[in-house]
Amino acid sequence: MRATDPEILNAIKKVLQEDTVIHSQNELFEKVTKKLSETDEVRVSAERIRRVAKKYGVRVQVHSRKGREIKTCPFCGKELQDILSQDLFGRSTTIGKLCKNCKFEIGLGRSPARYIFRR
Ligand SMILES: [Zn+2]
Repeated sequence: MRATDPEILNAIKKVLQEDTVIHSQNELFEKVTKKLSETDEVRVSAERIRRVAKKYGVRVQVHSRKGREIKTCPFCGKELQDILSQDLFGRSTTIGKLCKNCKFEIGLGRSPARYIFRR
């Protein structure tokens, strides 16, 4: 059975009632899947849980590491825009990437390494 957004959100809320902070996407995935499967066998991906969490206002902190640049937002799939900043000499340089849709930001040349979820 495929879980709906409200079902996933409900399970995330239950998990965050027990733990104020969830330290990784994998931890959230395991705990949410457990909650969802209490009544029925439910299939849901870690990525979908992450997206639902962000969409409905769970605070998600993203830790990044040096790595391959990402082109699309890990939360809503929209294309990322350049964040421009002027240097001392007034020249524009790209310092990072931004999702205009959900305000996700990441430094230039970095990719998401870890997601922290908070109540
Ligand atoms: Zn986004």
